Amino acid sequence: MVDLNKGSGYLYGAGAPRPPIAEAVSAAIDTALSARNRAERPRTYVSSSGLGRDCLRQIQYDFLAVPKDEGHEFAPRTLRIFEAGHRAEDIVAGWFRIAGFDLRTERPDGRQFGFEALGGRFKGHIDGCLVSGPVAMDYPALWENKALGAASWKDVVKRGVSLARPVYAAQIALYQAYMELPAPALFTALNRDTMELHAELVPFDAHLAQEMSDRAVAVVRASEAGEWLPRMAAEPTAVLCRGGMAAGKWHAPCAWAERCWGERRPGNAPVERFSRERAEPQP
Ligand code: SF4
Repeated sequence: MVDLNKGSGYLYGAGAPRPPIAEAVSAAIDTALSARNRAERPRTYVSSSGLGRDCLRQIQYDFLAVPKDEGHEFAPRTLRIFEAGHRAEDIVAGWFRIAGFDLRTERPDGRQFGFEALGGRFKGHIDGCLVSGPVAMDYPALWENKALGAASWKDVVKRGVSLARPVYAAQIALYQAYMELPAPALFTALNRDTMELHAELVPFDAHLAQEMSDRAVAVVRASEAGEWLPRMAAEPTAVLCRGGMAAGKWHAPCAWAERCWGERRPGNAPVERFSRERAEPQP
Protein backbone atom coordinates (compact mmCIF):
# COMPACT_ATOMS: atom_id res chain seq x y z
CA MET A 1 0.00 0.00 0.00
CA VAL A 2 1.07 3.54 -0.71
CA ASP A 3 1.14 6.31 1.85
CA LEU A 4 0.03 9.17 -0.46
CA ASN A 5 0.21 11.76 2.25
CA LYS A 6 3.50 11.09 3.87
CA GLY A 7 3.33 10.96 7.61
CA SER A 8 -0.48 11.20 7.76
CA GLY A 9 -0.89 7.58 8.77
CA TYR A 10 -3.50 7.11 6.02
CA LEU A 11 -2.76 4.27 3.65
CA TYR A 12 -4.53 4.15 0.30
CA GLY A 13 -6.65 1.03 0.08
CA ALA A 14 -6.96 0.57 3.81
CA GLY A 15 -9.99 1.57 5.86
CA ALA A 16 -9.85 4.59 8.13
CA PRO A 17 -7.67 3.73 11.12
CA ARG A 18 -9.72 2.80 14.18
CA PRO A 19 -8.92 4.62 17.39
CA PRO A 20 -7.31 2.38 20.03
CA ILE A 21 -10.40 2.66 22.25
CA ALA A 22 -12.59 1.20 19.47
CA GLU A 23 -10.19 -1.71 19.00
CA ALA A 24 -10.02 -2.32 22.74
CA VAL A 25 -13.81 -2.23 23.30
CA SER A 26 -14.49 -4.49 20.30
CA ALA A 27 -11.83 -6.96 21.38
CA ALA A 28 -13.23 -7.15 24.93
CA ILE A 29 -16.78 -7.70 23.69
CA ASP A 30 -15.74 -10.21 21.03
CA THR A 31 -13.78 -12.26 23.57
CA ALA A 32 -16.79 -12.34 25.90
CA LEU A 33 -19.25 -13.23 23.12
CA SER A 34 -17.07 -16.08 21.86
CA ALA A 35 -16.62 -17.42 25.40
CA ARG A 36 -20.37 -17.29 26.01
CA ASN A 37 -21.02 -19.10 22.75
CA ARG A 38 -18.46 -21.82 23.57
CA ALA A 39 -20.04 -22.28 27.01
CA GLU A 40 -23.50 -22.93 25.57
CA ARG A 41 -24.54 -26.56 25.70
CA PRO A 42 -24.98 -28.05 22.25
CA ARG A 43 -28.53 -28.79 21.13
CA THR A 44 -29.55 -32.40 21.49
CA TYR A 45 -32.45 -32.24 19.07
CA VAL A 46 -33.12 -31.63 15.39
CA SER A 47 -34.19 -28.01 15.12
CA SER A 48 -36.94 -27.05 12.72
CA SER A 49 -34.95 -23.93 11.83
CA GLY A 50 -32.33 -25.82 9.83
CA LEU A 51 -34.29 -28.72 8.36
CA GLY A 52 -34.79 -27.00 5.01
CA ARG A 53 -31.05 -27.11 4.29
CA ASP A 54 -30.24 -29.24 1.25
CA CYS A 55 -27.84 -31.76 2.75
CA LEU A 56 -29.11 -34.32 5.24
CA ARG A 57 -25.57 -35.19 6.27
CA GLN A 58 -25.02 -31.55 7.24
CA ILE A 59 -28.23 -31.53 9.31
CA GLN A 60 -27.04 -34.72 10.99
CA TYR A 61 -23.64 -33.22 11.87
CA ASP A 62 -25.52 -30.32 13.44
CA PHE A 63 -27.91 -32.60 15.35
CA LEU A 64 -25.03 -34.65 16.73
CA ALA A 65 -23.12 -31.49 17.69
CA VAL A 66 -20.14 -32.76 15.72
CA PRO A 67 -17.37 -30.14 16.10
CA LYS A 68 -17.14 -27.80 13.12
CA ASP A 69 -13.98 -27.58 11.03
CA GLU A 70 -11.30 -25.32 12.40
CA GLY A 71 -12.10 -21.67 11.71
CA HIS A 72 -15.79 -22.39 11.08
CA GLU A 73 -17.12 -21.54 14.52
CA PHE A 74 -19.33 -18.46 14.46
CA ALA A 75 -17.28 -15.27 14.28
CA PRO A 76 -18.06 -12.66 16.97
CA ARG A 77 -19.62 -10.42 14.33
CA THR A 78 -21.99 -13.24 13.34
CA LEU A 79 -22.91 -13.77 17.00
CA ARG A 80 -23.79 -10.07 17.22
CA ILE A 81 -25.97 -10.36 14.12
CA PHE A 82 -27.78 -13.39 15.61
CA GLU A 83 -28.45 -11.53 18.83
CA ALA A 84 -29.69 -8.45 16.98
CA GLY A 85 -32.05 -10.76 15.07
CA HIS A 86 -33.49 -12.16 18.31
CA ARG A 87 -33.99 -8.70 19.71
CA ALA A 88 -35.55 -7.46 16.49
CA GLU A 89 -38.29 -9.99 17.13
CA ASP A 90 -39.20 -8.16 20.36
CA ILE A 91 -39.16 -4.80 18.56
CA VAL A 92 -41.49 -5.98 15.79
CA ALA A 93 -43.76 -7.74 18.30
CA GLY A 94 -44.06 -4.42 20.15
CA TRP A 95 -45.05 -2.68 16.92
CA PHE A 96 -47.78 -5.26 16.33
CA ARG A 97 -49.13 -4.72 19.82
CA ILE A 98 -49.31 -0.93 19.66
CA ALA A 99 -51.07 -1.35 16.30
CA GLY A 100 -53.81 -3.33 18.07
CA PHE A 101 -52.89 -6.94 17.25
CA ASP A 102 -53.32 -9.58 19.91
CA LEU A 103 -49.97 -11.28 19.51
CA ARG A 104 -49.00 -14.10 21.87
CA THR A 105 -45.28 -14.76 22.01
CA GLU A 106 -44.71 -16.61 25.26
CA ARG A 107 -46.34 -18.79 27.87
CA PRO A 108 -47.11 -17.47 31.36
CA ASP A 109 -43.76 -18.87 32.54
CA GLY A 110 -41.92 -16.82 29.90
CA ARG A 111 -41.00 -19.74 27.62
CA GLN A 112 -41.65 -19.60 23.88
CA PHE A 113 -44.51 -21.59 22.41
CA GLY A 114 -43.33 -24.61 20.51
CA PHE A 115 -43.60 -28.30 19.80
CA GLU A 116 -41.55 -31.39 20.29
CA ALA A 117 -41.72 -34.83 18.72
CA LEU A 118 -39.70 -38.04 18.55
CA GLY A 119 -39.27 -38.14 22.30
CA GLY A 120 -37.78 -34.65 22.41
CA ARG A 121 -35.33 -35.30 19.55
CA PHE A 122 -37.18 -32.92 17.22
CA LYS A 123 -38.26 -29.47 18.38
CA GLY A 124 -39.32 -26.07 17.15
CA HIS A 125 -40.12 -22.77 18.84
CA ILE A 126 -42.35 -20.22 17.19
CA ASP A 127 -42.00 -16.45 17.23
CA GLY A 128 -45.68 -16.04 17.98
CA CYS A 129 -49.33 -16.49 17.18
CA LEU A 130 -51.61 -13.66 16.02
CA VAL A 131 -54.99 -14.17 17.66
CA SER A 132 -56.74 -11.06 16.34
CA GLY A 133 -55.90 -7.68 14.87
CA PRO A 134 -56.98 -4.65 12.89
CA VAL A 135 -55.98 -6.20 9.54
CA ALA A 136 -58.35 -8.48 7.62
CA MET A 137 -56.73 -11.92 7.56
CA ASP A 138 -57.49 -15.36 9.00
CA TYR A 139 -56.84 -15.72 12.72
CA PRO A 140 -55.26 -17.42 14.58
CA ALA A 141 -52.18 -17.27 12.41
CA LEU A 142 -48.57 -18.20 12.95
CA TRP A 143 -46.20 -15.21 13.07
CA GLU A 144 -42.61 -15.67 11.97
CA ASN A 145 -40.12 -12.82 11.80
CA LYS A 146 -36.58 -12.48 10.47
CA ALA A 147 -34.18 -9.55 10.57
CA LEU A 148 -32.23 -9.39 7.31
CA GLY A 149 -29.44 -7.37 5.77
CA ALA A 150 -30.48 -5.06 2.93
CA ALA A 151 -29.61 -7.40 0.04
CA SER A 152 -31.39 -10.42 1.53
CA TRP A 153 -34.36 -8.29 2.49
CA LYS A 154 -34.72 -6.94 -1.05
CA ASP A 155 -34.56 -10.47 -2.43
CA VAL A 156 -37.34 -11.61 -0.09
CA VAL A 157 -39.49 -8.59 -1.03
CA LYS A 158 -38.92 -9.28 -4.72
CA ARG A 159 -39.37 -13.06 -4.86
CA GLY A 160 -41.28 -13.89 -1.69
CA VAL A 161 -39.99 -15.93 1.22
CA SER A 162 -40.70 -19.35 -0.32
CA LEU A 163 -38.45 -18.75 -3.32
CA ALA A 164 -35.90 -16.42 -1.77
CA ARG A 165 -35.44 -18.29 1.54
CA PRO A 166 -36.77 -21.87 1.28
CA VAL A 167 -35.22 -22.71 4.65
CA TYR A 168 -37.55 -20.19 6.30
CA ALA A 169 -40.51 -21.50 4.29
CA ALA A 170 -39.77 -25.04 5.52
CA GLN A 171 -39.66 -23.78 9.09
CA ILE A 172 -43.00 -21.99 8.66
CA ALA A 173 -44.69 -25.08 7.16
CA LEU A 174 -43.49 -27.24 10.05
CA TYR A 175 -44.76 -24.78 12.65
CA GLN A 176 -48.14 -24.52 10.94
CA ALA A 177 -48.43 -28.31 10.92
CA TYR A 178 -47.21 -29.10 14.42
CA MET A 179 -48.84 -26.08 16.12
CA GLU A 180 -52.10 -26.76 14.25
CA LEU A 181 -52.24 -23.29 12.75
CA PRO A 182 -53.35 -24.02 9.16
CA ALA A 183 -54.35 -20.43 8.29
CA PRO A 184 -51.82 -18.55 6.13
CA ALA A 185 -48.89 -17.54 8.32
CA LEU A 186 -47.83 -13.91 8.53
CA PHE A 187 -44.14 -13.67 7.70
CA THR A 188 -42.42 -10.38 8.45
CA ALA A 189 -38.89 -9.38 7.51
CA LEU A 190 -37.19 -6.39 9.08
CA ASN A 191 -34.53 -4.63 7.04
CA ARG A 192 -31.69 -4.26 9.55
CA ASP A 193 -30.26 -1.28 7.67
CA THR A 194 -33.37 0.81 7.04
CA MET A 195 -35.89 -0.66 9.53
CA GLU A 196 -38.40 -1.15 6.67
CA LEU A 197 -40.83 -3.96 7.39
CA HIS A 198 -41.94 -6.46 4.76
CA ALA A 199 -45.00 -8.67 5.41
CA GLU A 200 -46.51 -11.50 3.41
CA LEU A 201 -49.03 -14.27 3.99
CA VAL A 202 -47.69 -17.79 3.51
CA PRO A 203 -50.37 -20.43 2.77
CA PHE A 204 -49.94 -23.76 4.53
CA ASP A 205 -47.94 -26.18 2.38
CA ALA A 206 -48.85 -29.61 3.76
CA HIS A 207 -46.54 -31.39 1.31
CA LEU A 208 -43.54 -29.31 2.41
CA ALA A 209 -44.40 -29.85 6.09
CA GLN A 210 -44.58 -33.61 5.56
CA GLU A 211 -41.32 -33.66 3.65
CA MET A 212 -39.53 -31.71 6.39
CA SER A 213 -41.04 -33.84 9.15
CA ASP A 214 -39.88 -36.97 7.31
CA ARG A 215 -36.38 -35.50 7.12
CA ALA A 216 -36.33 -34.98 10.88
CA VAL A 217 -37.35 -38.63 11.36
CA ALA A 218 -34.61 -39.75 8.95
CA VAL A 219 -31.94 -37.76 10.81
CA VAL A 220 -32.98 -39.07 14.23
CA ARG A 221 -33.47 -42.68 13.13
CA ALA A 222 -30.17 -42.85 11.24
CA SER A 223 -28.36 -41.33 14.20
CA GLU A 224 -29.92 -43.80 16.60
CA ALA A 225 -28.85 -46.62 14.29
CA GLY A 226 -25.31 -45.24 14.14
CA GLU A 227 -25.41 -44.56 10.41
CA TRP A 228 -24.45 -41.51 8.40
CA LEU A 229 -27.00 -40.15 5.97
CA PRO A 230 -25.80 -39.66 2.38
CA ARG A 231 -24.02 -36.53 1.28
CA MET A 232 -26.09 -34.34 -0.95
CA ALA A 233 -23.09 -33.48 -3.15
CA ALA A 234 -20.87 -35.71 -5.27
CA GLU A 235 -17.68 -33.71 -4.85
CA PRO A 236 -16.20 -31.34 -2.26
CA THR A 237 -16.04 -28.64 -4.96
CA ALA A 238 -19.87 -28.50 -5.11
CA VAL A 239 -21.32 -25.09 -4.28
CA LEU A 240 -23.33 -26.76 -1.54
CA CYS A 241 -20.06 -27.64 0.24
CA ARG A 242 -17.75 -24.73 -0.54
CA GLY A 243 -20.46 -22.05 -0.54
CA GLY A 244 -21.73 -19.64 -3.20
CA MET A 245 -24.69 -19.07 -5.50
CA ALA A 246 -26.29 -21.91 -7.45
CA ALA A 247 -29.60 -21.73 -9.35
CA GLY A 248 -30.43 -18.41 -7.72
CA LYS A 249 -29.88 -19.80 -4.23
CA TRP A 250 -27.16 -18.81 -1.77
CA HIS A 251 -25.33 -21.54 0.13
CA ALA A 252 -23.09 -20.72 3.08
CA PRO A 253 -19.84 -22.72 3.11
CA CYS A 254 -20.47 -26.01 4.94
CA ALA A 255 -18.87 -25.89 8.39
CA TRP A 256 -18.11 -29.64 8.27
CA ALA A 257 -16.69 -29.86 4.73
CA GLU A 258 -13.20 -30.98 5.76
CA ARG A 259 -14.53 -33.60 8.13
CA CYS A 260 -17.14 -34.75 5.64
CA TRP A 261 -14.83 -35.24 2.69
CA GLY A 262 -11.93 -36.36 4.86
CA GLU A 263 -14.14 -39.28 5.89
CA ARG A 264 -15.05 -40.18 2.31
CA ARG A 265 -15.12 -43.86 1.47
CA PRO A 266 -14.81 -45.39 -2.02
CA GLY A 267 -18.04 -45.02 -3.96
CA ASN A 268 -19.32 -42.34 -1.61
CA ALA A 269 -21.47 -44.97 0.09
CA PRO A 270 -22.91 -43.88 3.43
CA VAL A 271 -21.29 -46.72 5.31
CA GLU A 272 -19.46 -44.80 8.00
CA ARG A 273 -20.50 -45.41 11.55
CA PHE A 274 -20.04 -43.18 14.51
CA SER A 275 -20.38 -43.05 18.27
CA ARG A 276 -23.86 -42.29 19.56
CA GLU A 277 -22.40 -40.58 22.61
CA ARG A 278 -22.47 -37.18 20.98
CA ALA A 279 -26.22 -37.45 20.50
CA GLU A 280 -26.87 -38.16 24.15
CA PRO A 281 -27.94 -35.27 26.39
CA GLN A 282 -25.04 -33.80 28.32
CA PRO A 283 -25.22 -34.16 32.13
S1 SF4 B 1 -19.51 -30.95 2.92
FE1 SF4 B 1 -21.17 -31.00 1.41
S2 SF4 B 1 -21.85 -33.13 1.37
FE2 SF4 B 1 -20.65 -32.86 3.23
S3 SF4 B 1 -22.11 -32.36 4.85
FE3 SF4 B 1 -21.40 -30.44 4.01
S4 SF4 B 1 -22.87 -29.91 2.41
FE4 SF4 B 1 -23.14 -32.08 2.87
